[in-house]
Amino acid sequence: MKRHDIIEDIAAKNAVLVAVTKTRSKHDIMPLYNEGIRIMGENRVQELLDKKDDLPSDIQWHLIGHLQTNKVKYIASFIQMIHSVDSLKLVKEINKYALKYNRVIDILIQCKVAKEESKFGVHPDLIHDFIEDVRGSSFSHIRIRGIMGMGTLTKDQGVTASEFKALKTIFDDLKHTFFSNDPDFNTLSMGMSSDYKIALEEGSTMVRIGSALF
Ligand SMILES: *Cc1c(COP(=O)(O)O)cnc(C)c1O
Repeated sequence: MKRHDIIEDIAAKNAVLVAVTKTRSKHDIMPLYNEGIRIMGENRVQELLDKKDDLPSDIQWHLIGHLQTNKVKYIASFIQMIHSVDSLKLVKEINKYALKYNRVIDILIQCKVAKEESKFGVHPDLIHDFIEDVRGSSFSHIRIRGIMGMGTLTKDQGVTASEFKALKTIFDDLKHTFFSNDPDFNTLSMGMSSDYKIALEEGSTMVRIGSALF
């Protein structure tokens, strides 16, 4: 599909597009900006810092890859959303630096549903405890906006669909259990170039797409 059609398709489904710009240069990225895309995602802090000042300042940057606690300080002054939150220590650090810069940072809890061994993400069985721990600490400068997940890297669309179904079930359960009065808890980040159509069918509200856009 052509870039323009992908953008239209996602908008028609009322989902938010995060254009994943990792490994891309300013020259690659500007055409997307000129098509109206303002939300961009990077998975590495250093790469994000290296390119952000060369790009327009109204881009809203999302950090989508694993974030080490000691790197929070480098992005806290500007980052819009962090998709990869999976430890209380990390939440604490994000809150600390958001406070320092007098801003609120949106976070998603990364949830591990893929069959393949991944180091990152909270196991579904532990996610209630995790949310209770975060809420128990009453952090004033973070806002939990939802969850993020990744499917197993597979050509079996049935596996992908069932993992996205599982993420949607977890999202709905958390909404019901903890956030029923919180309209800000509204984001289910799932779907990449190879599987975003399945993700949208399964209820994704935010897709992270790189290669298909370039
Ligand atoms: C790279 C990346 C994407 C986008 O992958 P594409 O296959 O290029 O669309 C999405 N999410 C995360 C966490 C990534 O690292």
